This record gives sequence, C-alpha cells and structure tokens, in this order.
Amino acid sequence: MRWYQLDVDRVEQKLHVTANSGLSTKQVEQRRKKYGFNILEAQKNTSKWLIFLKQFQDFMVLVLLAATLIAGLLGEYIDAIAIMVIVLVNGFIGFFQEQKAEKSLEKLKELSAPMANVLRDENWGKIPSREVVVGDVIRVNSGDRIPADIRIVQSNSLETEESTLTGESLPVMKHATAIANDSLDAQDQVNMAFMGTLVTRGSGIGIVVGTGMNTIMGQIASLMVNTKKAITPLERKLAELGKILIVVALLLTAMVVFLGVYQGHPVYNMFLAGVSLAVAAIPEGLPAIVTVALSLGVQRMIKKKAIVRKLSAVETLGCASVICSDKTGTMTENQMTVKEIYLNGQHMYVTGDGYDIRGDYFLNKNKVDNSFPNLEKMLLYGMLCNNATLNIKKGKYFVDGDPTDGALLVAARKIGLTAMIEEDYRIIKELPFDSDRKRMSVVVEDENSMRYLITKGAPDVLLPRCTFHLGESGRSLLKAEDKNRISQSVNTMADKALRTIAISMKSLSKNEDLETAFLENDLTFIGLYGMIDPPRKEVKSAIEECRQAGIKTVMITGDHVKTARAIAKNLNLLPEDGLVLEGYQLNQMSVSDLEEKIEDTYVFARVTPEHKLKIVKAFQKKGHIVAMTGDGVNDAPAIKASDIGISMGISGTDVTKEASSLVLMDDNFATIKSAIQEGRNIYENIRKFIRYLLASNVGEILVMLFAMLLGMPLPLVPVQILWVNLVTDGLPAMALGLDQSEGDVMKQSPRNQREGIFSRGLGYKIISRGVLIGIVTLIAFMLAYQDNPENLVYGQTIAFTTLVMAQLIHVFDCRSEKSVFSRNPFENMYLVLAVLSSLLLLLVVIYWEPLQPIFHTTALSLRDWMLIGVLSALPTVLFGFTKK
Ligand code: ADP
Ligand code: MG
Repeated sequence: MRWYQLDVDRVEQKLHVTANSGLSTKQVEQRRKKYGFNILEAQKNTSKWLIFLKQFQDFMVLVLLAATLIAGLLGEYIDAIAIMVIVLVNGFIGFFQEQKAEKSLEKLKELSAPMANVLRDENWGKIPSREVVVGDVIRVNSGDRIPADIRIVQSNSLETEESTLTGESLPVMKHATAIANDSLDAQDQVNMAFMGTLVTRGSGIGIVVGTGMNTIMGQIASLMVNTKKAITPLERKLAELGKILIVVALLLTAMVVFLGVYQGHPVYNMFLAGVSLAVAAIPEGLPAIVTVALSLGVQRMIKKKAIVRKLSAVETLGCASVICSDKTGTMTENQMTVKEIYLNGQHMYVTGDGYDIRGDYFLNKNKVDNSFPNLEKMLLYGMLCNNATLNIKKGKYFVDGDPTDGALLVAARKIGLTAMIEEDYRIIKELPFDSDRKRMSVVVEDENSMRYLITKGAPDVLLPRCTFHLGESGRSLLKAEDKNRISQSVNTMADKALRTIAISMKSLSKNEDLETAFLENDLTFIGLYGMIDPPRKEVKSAIEECRQAGIKTVMITGDHVKTARAIAKNLNLLPEDGLVLEGYQLNQMSVSDLEEKIEDTYVFARVTPEHKLKIVKAFQKKGHIVAMTGDGVNDAPAIKASDIGISMGISGTDVTKEASSLVLMDDNFATIKSAIQEGRNIYENIRKFIRYLLASNVGEILVMLFAMLLGMPLPLVPVQILWVNLVTDGLPAMALGLDQSEGDVMKQSPRNQREGIFSRGLGYKIISRGVLIGIVTLIAFMLAYQDNPENLVYGQTIAFTTLVMAQLIHVFDCRSEKSVFSRNPFENMYLVLAVLSSLLLLLVVIYWEPLQPIFHTTALSLRDWMLIGVLSALPTVLFGFTKK
C-alpha cells in the first residue's frame, strides 16, 4: 500500500502520530538520528586545495613561476626563492579572501533558508525546513514551498503548482480522501503534496511521509543541481576592464623590456623584471577584491536586518530612484486594533490598545454590553470567519496569523466572547482571503445543524454582493440610500486612517451547493469594523531621508483610498499636489497613460498584486530604477520585474522570497533605507580601492618606463616590484573597502546605473596621481644614483622606499572625491593600521640585514628619509590643494 491509498487514521497509526498533537520532542530526536536531516544530498563543494591552486592559474603568474625556475637553475637562488615566497604569500591572501567571501555567502544562504510550520508537542511553531522529520504534522499556506513529501489531512481550497516535478504549470486541487487506485503517478496523487512544489492558493495540513532524498524531489535531485555562480554587473564590467588593462600593461612592459635590452641591459634581467612588472601591474585580483568588498558590505547589511539574496543587488541598491512599498506591515506596525464599529446604523467606539484584551464599547459616551442588539452576533461571526489565534506569552497577548483577523478576536474578547464558543461551531468550508479577492468566507454549522455562510472583506467589494441588511428590528432589504449611508460611514472611518472591514452572512440549506461561484452573493450586511494600524515610528524620517537622497517613496496598498491617503499624509509621503490612483483607474489606463501620471503619483490604493507589475513597468519606462516590495504569492511577478525585488522576512512567502534580491528581516520600510545607504557606501568604497590600486600600478609601470627611456639602470628589481604589489595591493586596499562614507551618502542623488567605473573624474584622478607617483619615484632614484653611481643598490632602495611611501600616503587621498585635507585620516582605523603595518614591513626589509641581500636593499640615513618624505608626499599634497 502506498501513502495516498491509506486513510488518514492509517497514516497516523503507521507513523505513530496524530494530526492534532504532532510528534513529541523525543520522537523527533529518534527520527532525526535514524533518517538524518531533510536535505537534498549536499552538492559537492569545491575542495580547498582547488581554490588555493586556482590562485596560481593566472597566465602571467605561471610565466613568472617559470621564469623564476629558470633563474633558480641559472644559480640565482636568492632571487628565485624570494619571488617564489612572495607569489605563495600572494596566493594565500587570495585564498583567504575567497574563503571569507564564500563563508559570508554561505551564512546568507542559512539566513534565508526556508522555514516550515510544524505541530510538535501540541504547539505550532516555525522551524527550518531541514529539521522536519517523517511524521511531523505541518501546515502549508498560500505562497509556501512545501518542505517535504506530505499526505494531506486537511485542505482549505488547497492548490499546488508542481511544475518543478511534473512540468505541468496548472495548479492541482488537493484533498484528504484516500485513493484506491494502486499505480498512480505523482501528479495524480491529489491527497499528497510534494517537496519543492508551491502552494498557490488556500491552506492545508499534512503529515510528512518522506524527507530529504526519500522524496520525489530527492529522486530527481541529481538532475537539478545548479551551482553556477552568478557574477554581478560590476564584476563583469571589471573583468572586461581587466582584459583591456592586461593588454595595456603587457604592451607597456614589453616596451620597458624592449627599451631596456636596447639600452644594453642583459636580456635575462630585463625579462624577469618585465614579467614581475606585468604580474604587479595587471589587476587580475580586482574582481576578487570587489567580491570581498561586496560580501563584507552584505555582512554589514545583515546587522541592519537586510539580507541580500543576490550580490548584484548591493550595486543596484545604490541606483534606486523609486521605492514602491507596501503600506500594511512595512510602513505600518501591522498591529491592528478595532477602534470603531458600525452597527444598526450607529457608530460605536472601542477603547483599548494593541492586542490587549482590556477595553469597552461605547455608544454616545455610554458603555454598551453584549445585550446591545446584533453586537454579539457580529463579533461572534468575526471570530468564526477568522484564521488567527490569540495567544498569551509572559502576560502579553499576541496574535498568531493575520493581524487583521487578530484584531477581530481581540474585539470579540472585549465583549466577553472567548475561543471556547468556537467549539459549538463546525467550519465546513473556507474560501481564504487573498489580496485579489479582498474577502474571506467560511461555511459554518452550529449545534442545531443550521448552516450559514459568513463573509468578511473590503466594504466596497462586499456591498455589491449584499441584498439585505441587519438592523435593530431584524433583516430588511438593502436600498440604495442604505448603501449610501454605509459608504458614508466607511469614508468617515477611512478619513481617520482606519482600515475598514465589512461583515455579512447568509443562511444556507443543508443541501446547498458549496462549490458554486455564486456562493458569496445575496448576502446580508451586518456591520463594519474600523481598525487602526499605527505607522512605524521610524518610517516618517526614513521617507524624508530618501527624499533628500533623491529617492521617491510610493505607497502601494490594497486598502481603501481614504485610509491610504490619511496614512500617507501622516507620514509626509504625499505632497499637496501629489496624486492618488486607485486600482479601478489603473484598469482603465494604458501603460502610456500611466507613464504620464506616474511621476506625480505617490499613493496607489485598492490595487491588486497584478497592478504592481504595471506600476513597475511604468516607472521603468520613465527611466527609474525601481525597488518593489511584496509578500504574497501574487507579488512575485512584480518583484521579479523590478530592479530590486524586496520581500518580507516575517510575513513574506517562500515564493516572494525566492523572487526577491533583498529580504527585510523585520519587514520594515526603514530597513530599505539603511540597505540603500549601505549599497551606496559600498559602491563608493569599491571606487576608492580601484582608484588606489590602479594609480599605484600606473606609478610602478611609469617609473620603469621613464628610466628605460632615459637610458638609466633599472630603478626597481623584480623582488621589489613584487613586494610593492603584495604589500600595497593587500592590506590598504582591503581597508579602503571598509571605509566610512565621505559626508552623507544620503544627501546625494542616486547614481546613474549606466555610469562607467571611471566616471565622475575617477579616470583623471588615477592617471594624474599615478603619473606623479612615477615621476617622484624616478626623481628620487635619479638623485640617489647621481650621488652614488657605483652603488646601484642604494639608488634602488631609495626608489623602492619612495614608491611605497608615495602609495601609502596616496591611499588617504583615495578616501575623498574632493581633497585629501577634507577628511580626518584617523577616522578609518583599519586603514591606519594597514598603513602602519605596511610601513613596518618596509622598515624590516630595509634595515634587517638578513633580508637586505634578498630584497637588494641597504640601510638609509635620516637625510635619505627627508628626501623620500618630501618627494613621496608630493603627489598627494599637490592634488590636495588643487582639489581636482
Ligand atoms: P494591504 O495589505 O495593502 O493593506 P490587503 O490586500 O491585505 O491590503 O487588504 C485589502 C482589503 O481587504 C482591506 O482594506 C480589508 O478591507 C480587506 N481585508 C484585509 N485583510 C482581510 C482578511 N483577513 N479578511 C477579510 N478581509 C480582509
Ligand atoms: Mg495585507
């Protein structure tokens, strides 16, 4: 017998579990031991050795190693060994950087790992999907990815999409009844749901019958490993740039070598010098450092509660010019409290805050109790047509489930209705809420086997479906004037920023067809709830900061237009002349109509998720870089289409998370702002170290080229060139990647996404500084060489020291787009430490006698240092004054 053929009781028996209480902790432990984690066989990790060896696969490095080998064979042991060591150290650094980047990416993966809703020890809770074991009772909701193979025991219009397994993209209805047929394929086992498939509608409960590799997905897992690493646009741009730079560097080095040989230098010497120079000058490590900088930035973002799912988002974030944000839960607290009730044509007020169950009902300042006509009925129906539960923890009440539903439970408690009452009623069918339908219905049967339908939802959706209304004297026909009066009440509530929900009912006969599309018609209107959802405190200032940063914030909500407008006003999001558009208006507009208005629109109300896509497209047509938030399944297309898709860590569904590039751990709008700020900062830092590395390389090449042009000896020997490359490319560049931003990045306009790496004067800065570094190094060499032509080592030591010092001073220049003097050099302690340690290493190489023959150095005098000091400071100081 297979799982789908068994009745639910048999499944429960076989797995020693009941769907009402779930497994016990002890059972879970035993099963974990026996079957392991619920994961598809881990993909093979690239071995550490391979990553290490990869550091040496670069062509020029191989040439260098070959050249060194030859040098060794020719008897130049010391040089050969020194070069080998430097190349090795360089390899190690690259290796550790890559490891670090890898680790932080893995941590990210862990953070955004899918979760499952399980019942254990009679309590529902969320656990990472990998911890699910066979026998676990799990609940799945619309938008979830199913964590394991399950046998359905309860289905509320549950539909799943199984194209990952079957290729069939039409959703499949799921139910709980056993199927006798004994050779069904996965797609026909409609009382089962499978790991990796998606819940597109409804909700359900199931018992796990297979985990990990014992699932259908596990059987085909080997076919779908997908390990290709995505490269970010910036990394791609840099890789392309790298190719050009390689050609340029090779040409220049070839020139150096050629000129050197022409001037009479030994061919072999020039060759080794040339190869070293090429290795030093080719920024082959640039994309790797960028990756490291990006992943370090990603870690900082995690601290600010933003999880980056795609590294490329870090760059794009800095370009965002529009943020389209959900209102409920993102801009507001998502803690709803019923403040007003409209019933029997009268407005009542409810006291109390949050989910605290203390509070009373007042009509014209008089307290009202449950004897008030229809009040208890309305509140009871609100409890029944409901998916949330009210729980208590450490004396504080909180809601599990939809906060809108939770508010109705609290409202009912205030009149004395508790969850006990629900036991007298049986829910026969549920039509779940979604943002498209904007309503939810249940069919209930009471103790006397009387059946009726309860529907609650947005008033403007419900009213057209009502033909009667309930008053103090019972049910009567809903006339146009009644409808007007109700709409009026909705408006007055919405103007006060209240979210409105209408509730209605209809009696059903026992044999009424529950599947008909007309079920939710001919309703009897009962009343309205008006609930407050206060804005999050930090959102108002975050919107203001975004405005100053040239980023427009747009509110998108399924809520009533007046509610949306009131909250937008409250948050200072909607200017005096700003437009508010409603879903029905969007329907009538073509994309080009919308384009015309969209720049002036700040609020979209009563929209469905489908509208979001249209909004994204219109903004993009206008040249905007759009960030779009979402939480439900239907938001996924818009999130995908946007430039920066943002999903909610708490309320978001798996589908939206998968489609997004950024996850907000706290669902908070202000976190988007922090992420953008961080994104801008990271990009600036990347510019800083590109500038530093390339200017250094220009200086290195030029000093050699100039010397050869002037017919002078080599100012630097190969080991020195490699050493400079190692010590300056390493620590100081990394420290720049951790730099604080210059001024407030949120006071500038968004960066143009198409701008090149060298834009905004960066190219000029690199060349001008690089040329000057080359010139001062050459001058230092010339002066020393003229003084003391027999002692070439002395001249080379001076040149070497000047070059290193010039770079270590220049690194501070790179922190600023303006002038080196505009920033406090001690602000970035990493940089200060990096520079100090490079300096220390320099001193060791110059003064420690055992190293002198290896690095071709000699001890320098105070007079030498004064010369070096003046010359090496020159490039930075000079440009510090010109401010260009
Ligand atoms: P948003 O999330 O942008 O506030 P929704 O799509 O969730 O918008 O809600 C739209 C409207 O649907 C609300 O204004 C409310 O009237 C109604 N509504 C919201 N939640 C529920 C629910 N759980 N049951 C019934 N109706 C609801
Ligand atoms: Mg909502």
